[in-house]
Amino acid sequence: MKIKLSKPFSSNSAVDEYDVKQMKKALNRLGYYTPYEKVGIIGIPDTAVFDALKSFQKNQGLQPTGTAKPGDETVSALSREASKTPKGYYVWRTVGDDRVRASHSAHDWETRAWDDAPDPGEEFNCRCWAIPATPEQIDKKKKQKCFAGLPWEDEAKTNIESHEDDIPYPYIDTASKITVGIGINIDGKGKFMGLPWKTGSESGPDATRKEIEDGYEALVNQKTQLGNLNEDGNFNVSADNQDNWTNLYLPDEERANLFQEIVNMFQNALPGKFSDFDCFPPPAKVALMDMIFNLGETKFSRGNWPNLFKAVNQRDWRTAANQSHRKIPNDKSNRNRDTHNQFIDAAEMEEQVQQ
Ligand SMILES: [Zn+2]
Repeated sequence: MKIKLSKPFSSNSAVDEYDVKQMKKALNRLGYYTPYEKVGIIGIPDTAVFDALKSFQKNQGLQPTGTAKPGDETVSALSREASKTPKGYYVWRTVGDDRVRASHSAHDWETRAWDDAPDPGEEFNCRCWAIPATPEQIDKKKKQKCFAGLPWEDEAKTNIESHEDDIPYPYIDTASKITVGIGINIDGKGKFMGLPWKTGSESGPDATRKEIEDGYEALVNQKTQLGNLNEDGNFNVSADNQDNWTNLYLPDEERANLFQEIVNMFQNALPGKFSDFDCFPPPAKVALMDMIFNLGETKFSRGNWPNLFKAVNQRDWRTAANQSHRKIPNDKSNRNRDTHNQFIDAAEMEEQVQQ
């Protein structure tokens, strides 16, 4: 990383924003500077960056002034040192707001080797930074095994199926969305109309376009019927009691296909949330698939689940187990307990390798 100052860099003169970012990034990479968690590496100078520069100068045998000028000895020493790949490991940190690019968000709290690209702060406008890894984190990382290639998908599906009813007719869920099968959202009219509905049963005749459209309209109408809403205005009729609202029936195979489509979609989404997902122990993958299926891709976010996401990227499965509890009204199928236990299984697999 080459540093090129456009102005003198000191705490008592107006500094250039880009200069500040370069200095902070270089000093962070070399272990001298840590930004405020809530803002990350930005172009506004703080006391810490000048103090960091002082320490760097001291260690390089330079005058510890805490200042630098374009092209001076401090700048060339910093350029030279920051261009080397640091040895060992660090923990990637992000600001954690919506502006963090998804690929960096997926690294938050991950212990990484400096040999692995990209580095925090390297890419344009990136505010991410590195914190030193603790001896425990380094030890754990070194012993870690990649569990990629072990099967988990079938178990993930069986697990979800054990927590969801498979309803063959279209119904409205508690979020007022038209749904079918294992809670699969088919609320969009285009999606609904495109499904191969039958009338009455698995072996019934194909539904006509008119029957499908009438069914859809009937459900849309039910969404707002006062008798179907609770005091808070939320939809409040169980799926079991909606079996006569239409005469439409979606065959078993079609429901299985829809389920597989959603599972595939989430399977692609999970590595985007956790960069090391492919290497996680299978039971952790099963647990995470259940959570994303249950909560949806948007709600299952770092913003909503900061402690869980941190634990997962640290591969700290015992903490993940404790952070995985969802609000599930009368959790009859013990969904929370199962997810908890899956994370504990993951912890045991990981600990076995660590010994
Ligand atoms: Zn970043």
